[in-house]
Amino acid sequence: MTTAIDHWIAGQSTAGTSTRRGDVFNPATGALSGRVAYAGTDDVHAAVTAAAEAFPAWSSTPPHVRARVLFRFRDLVESNRDRLAEIITAEHGKVFNDAQGEVTRGMEVIEFACGIPQILKGEFSENVGRTVDAVTLRQPLGVVAGISPFNFPAMVPMWMFPVALACGNTFVMKPSEKDPTLSNELARLLAEAGAPDGVFNVVHGDKAAVDALLEDPRVEAVSFVGSTPVAEHIHKTAAADGKRVQALGGAKNHMVVMPDADLDQAVAALMGAAYGSAGERCMAISVAVPVGEETAQRLRERLIKALAELKVGPGMSDGVEMGPLVTAAHRDKVAGYLDIGTQEGAELVVDGRQSDIADAGDGFFLGGSLFDHVTPGMRIYQEEIFGPVLSLVRADSFAQALTLVNEHEFGNGTAIFTRDGNTARTYLAKVKAGMVGINVPIPVPMAFHSFGGWKRSLFGDHHIHGPEGVRFYTRNKTATTRWPSDTAVTTEYAMPTHG
Ligand code: NAD
Repeated sequence: MTTAIDHWIAGQSTAGTSTRRGDVFNPATGALSGRVAYAGTDDVHAAVTAAAEAFPAWSSTPPHVRARVLFRFRDLVESNRDRLAEIITAEHGKVFNDAQGEVTRGMEVIEFACGIPQILKGEFSENVGRTVDAVTLRQPLGVVAGISPFNFPAMVPMWMFPVALACGNTFVMKPSEKDPTLSNELARLLAEAGAPDGVFNVVHGDKAAVDALLEDPRVEAVSFVGSTPVAEHIHKTAAADGKRVQALGGAKNHMVVMPDADLDQAVAALMGAAYGSAGERCMAISVAVPVGEETAQRLRERLIKALAELKVGPGMSDGVEMGPLVTAAHRDKVAGYLDIGTQEGAELVVDGRQSDIADAGDGFFLGGSLFDHVTPGMRIYQEEIFGPVLSLVRADSFAQALTLVNEHEFGNGTAIFTRDGNTARTYLAKVKAGMVGINVPIPVPMAFHSFGGWKRSLFGDHHIHGPEGVRFYTRNKTATTRWPSDTAVTTEYAMPTHG
């Protein structure tokens, strides 16, 4: 049985006017589970109209009253966490406790957004001139849009809209067409929490829906998270139209393992960071850089052993550590890199196609793979594989490892494992990446900090959520004020200096 997955516009579920639909699968079984509506221009127009009509009332609602809606929303997300996590596992494939964690990380952004009355307080300077004061406000932009990838169907939308709404904007969300149901569930919970109709809308679809959002002049800003080619396209197109845009792209995250690292800790961290969520995380570690021959040999041996114990299977099954990939096409693309790497001369130490997978059936499974002797000239090193494939690139020295990381086109996250404070400090100071872990493999900032990469992992000026999110979703207004008083009235023809 397949479910019809429709848009959410102006507080209602609607199939829209376009007749195009796409397939949604359960990756653990390979079964078709849903048919999602693909919005055309008219559907996107209707969603933007609903958001534009809701904006005047929502933006003039006091921030603490908007926050009350978010407090209720936060509680509903928490009380529905397991149900939401089940939906994630059913459409994305990740294991259930990972899906629960994803919902929690999204919920933490709502918690940050609940503090909006404090965050939006603005600035005031008394007496910038005689009897003259200055005040700086931050005001919402209007209708803003979010476009999200398949790999975090709950967390990435929640990186965006709770902050945008708290600031007084209204929102149109275009989630990934591969796992679209979660955004509809969030829309329902937000409505239950008291968000007025039109404040949050969801349109589903592919490039056509995204292009319609980009072309609509009423959309003031676009938050995008996805692959680098699309991020770059969104940034160029939206910015050329004068929209504000933050576009977070792909990654190739390196973990440097120094000879003095606690190897047990490093291997445990690497396994989770490389193979958790089947490597389909923008903060996954896909390259390990052991420094020195001995470190490389020891790391390799331990990883082979750990991979032999990795439990792969359906995400709802007990004890499973890694689920399937999101679609058959993506699984095949990732498997294709195993051939590419072998042809390029890397050593395929563990081939995930040979893995023993429980209850694999027709699911989109691929076991964890390990390449050794990978070099910077290889495609498997340069390109984001976005699957359970870890590459070992051996370095002779810390300096060589640092150069390797800095010369890669992506700069999302990175980690170093060492016991030496000075090495860690130097790495933090010199590495060209937006998020750095010191003995922490996946350094995803908490909701009250901001998330974002460097180089071709982010296009735009603002990172997402936290303080940068508030700056992105508001614009500055500074007023200089004077009230009639008994101060002498003078006409000034020279630049006022308020001396
Ligand atoms: P994707 O780029 O294929 O899709 C992302 C979104 O863009 C989807 O909503 C999709 O419908 C839309 N889209 C796809 N092609 C488009 C086109 N040509 N024009 C306009 N819109 C288009 O990404 P994905 O496969 O869903 O997600 C995986 C990618 O996302 C990886 O590269 C991963 O690194 C990246 N990602 C980055 C971050 C980050 O914070 N930097 C976080 C999560 C995922």
